[in-house]
Amino acid sequence: MTAPGRPLELWTVDDPELAPGEVWLDIVASEVCGTDVHLHHGRLTGVPYPIIPGHVSVGRVRETRGVETDAGGRPLAPGDLVTFYDVVGTCHCCYYCAVAGQPNLCPQRKVYGITFGVGDGLRGGWAESIHLVAGTSVFRLPGGLDVDDVIGGGCGLFTGFGAVERADLEPDDTVVVQGSGPVGLAAAAFARLAGAGELLVIGDPDPRLDLARRMGADRTLSVSGSTREERAAAVLEATEGRGADIVIEASGNPAAIPEGFALLRAGGTYVIAGHYTDAGPVAINPHLDINRKHADVRGRWGTELGHVARSLALLARHRLPFADVIGGRYGLERTGEALADVEAMRVTKAIIAPS
Ligand SMILES: [Zn+2]
Ligand SMILES: [Zn+2]
Repeated sequence: MTAPGRPLELWTVDDPELAPGEVWLDIVASEVCGTDVHLHHGRLTGVPYPIIPGHVSVGRVRETRGVETDAGGRPLAPGDLVTFYDVVGTCHCCYYCAVAGQPNLCPQRKVYGITFGVGDGLRGGWAESIHLVAGTSVFRLPGGLDVDDVIGGGCGLFTGFGAVERADLEPDDTVVVQGSGPVGLAAAAFARLAGAGELLVIGDPDPRLDLARRMGADRTLSVSGSTREERAAAVLEATEGRGADIVIEASGNPAAIPEGFALLRAGGTYVIAGHYTDAGPVAINPHLDINRKHADVRGRWGTELGHVARSLALLARHRLPFADVIGGRYGLERTGEALADVEAMRVTKAIIAPS
């Protein structure tokens, strides 16, 4: 991706020379995330174009320099099928890392496929191989998980997990998830596993709502097939008129925010996780939506290492059907088409498969 708005190009980059602690993977599958669409529109700041996109990927270990175990302490060797945490370089000693305990906000943090430029080397998943710097947390796929199980969830898996963790869900809490893309589907699946009571997903189109029910939603509501009043009535009906204990926003659409506040019960928790990029402002009523409502409003920006480790373990334990989220596979010469299909919502999850 040479610059925002430009057609994607296929480039040849030199093979890496591995330094101690580094890992070289052959990419088996990478994903197209909504963030990649935003990258192509130039909506993220600090992106050093040209970049190799692709932040979450599954690969096969080609070579390592002195790395003998994965992030879970299991033996790691050439040929192993792995994924990796897309964030690297958090410093462990800045205010955010060391005092606040929020390494996702560390200014040193780098993200494969987003904040590395091509000049840094093979640092994105839309490529035949990727060169992981020392300190990257690599995970062997646990418990017989297949490539598609993991990449079908992609980074939405980890973001959805992080959103549910941020909600501090109590057993049997009524949960509304706004959005039925990869983040919303994962949030629904993990909210169910975390002990949600009634679980409603609001989204579109129908195939995504079918998937949401398979992930554990009790009920789905189509945005295009219902009015805002009808959706509010459905949530009130499910909660004896109180509103949802927890609302998780995973839509990326600013218009979802006022509706989310309206669906939340007094004293409920609203987690906003779908706005990784700036989609613009929206009006809320501070008195009605937050102050009078005594609402607990929480942002979820980026993921943490624990979200990756735990969501992979849950995926293996519960066999969540994320492989079925994959709607299209594209070779490296068709990445532009893959981006266009994701943007137009023709596919929920598009996969880049180099070979
Ligand atoms: Zn992503
Ligand atoms: Zn730091």
